[in-house]
Amino acid sequence: MANDDDEHGPVSVSASGLGEFEMLAGVGLGARNDIVRYASERLLRPTEVLIEQGGTNLHMYLLMDGELGVFLEKVEGEPIAVINPGETVGELSVLDASKASAHVVATKASRVLALDESSFWNLTNVSHAFAVNLLVKLAERLRANNDAVSKNVKQRRQYERAAMFDGLTGIHNRRWLDETLDRMLARHQRGAGTLSVGLIDIDHFKSFNDTYGHDAGDHVLTVVAGTLEHNLRPTDMVARYGGEEFVLIFPETALDQAAIAAERVRAAVAAQVLEMPNGTKLPNVTISMGIAQYSKETAAELLKAADQAMYRAKQGGRNRVELARAAFSADTTLPGA
Ligand code: GH3
Ligand code: MG
Ligand code: MG
Repeated sequence: MANDDDEHGPVSVSASGLGEFEMLAGVGLGARNDIVRYASERLLRPTEVLIEQGGTNLHMYLLMDGELGVFLEKVEGEPIAVINPGETVGELSVLDASKASAHVVATKASRVLALDESSFWNLTNVSHAFAVNLLVKLAERLRANNDAVSKNVKQRRQYERAAMFDGLTGIHNRRWLDETLDRMLARHQRGAGTLSVGLIDIDHFKSFNDTYGHDAGDHVLTVVAGTLEHNLRPTDMVARYGGEEFVLIFPETALDQAAIAAERVRAAVAAQVLEMPNGTKLPNVTISMGIAQYSKETAAELLKAADQAMYRAKQGGRNRVELARAAFSADTTLPGA
């Protein structure tokens, strides 16, 4: 082992002083004496580059004083990591003889101890403690990578969530409905069991907006969405289908049972007292709903059947539930609605 790099000066630290550095903790005196003998010291001015990204790096550096910054791509702005005294840098590219993965630059005047490749390997050979310290450091780096990956996954899930929920009311949106209903119907096509859907449209909502303003309209949409959710069974589902339209899914529910739930929901909306967050009182709103039971048609056809029933609820005077009876040609009005 020889120090053949004339940039580097002699080491100003003693073998016992080296034992205080984390990476050399537990390393025996003999091995530390070797370091003092074969390592070299280098002084860095602020902004001076120690390792260049993509370049060949043949040293592990131990920072004795100062501070180093790790940068990706460009050496500007905030570093992705800061190296403090006692920490090492460059060992990864020495280990696997790969190109340096980042720029390492002095962010303050610094003093580093440089251990060349052969000294590095010699140290791993003679010092079990050094090899263990190195393993621990690599494990920490792996975990940091995994954390970064899982943070990305979390962020992606958040974006996916945003794509499946309606920004105004916070309930599921149409995209979610299309995907969910398709999946549910596919399942029902294979197995037994049934399912019903309800299509809801708020009555005279255009004139409500015209009279009380769009903000009041938005507020009502949010309250109605909440009223729907709170008046369904936990297994039932609700989505905002479009403007002032909502779709309910009643899993494992035949039309007569769905009609009872639909009527409960209709009555709850009609009874809901409305008040703006600033205290302005608003008149109650009502909904018209058409419900249909699945009978092996597509999701679009099923929703269309519910929509046609809803249209009849409008024609019949609004604030009511109408049933589409796919198995029979006649449609039925729910008594009492
Ligand atoms: P009908 O009883 O026949 O359903 O009458 P309508 O006025 O509700 O029917 P129409 O489809 O003509 O009007 C729907 C109105 O819903 C149009 C628009 O003013 C309102 N609307 C749709 N989306 C929103 C929204 O996101 N916010 C608000 N404030 N209003 C909306
Ligand atoms: Mg409408
Ligand atoms: Mg409407």
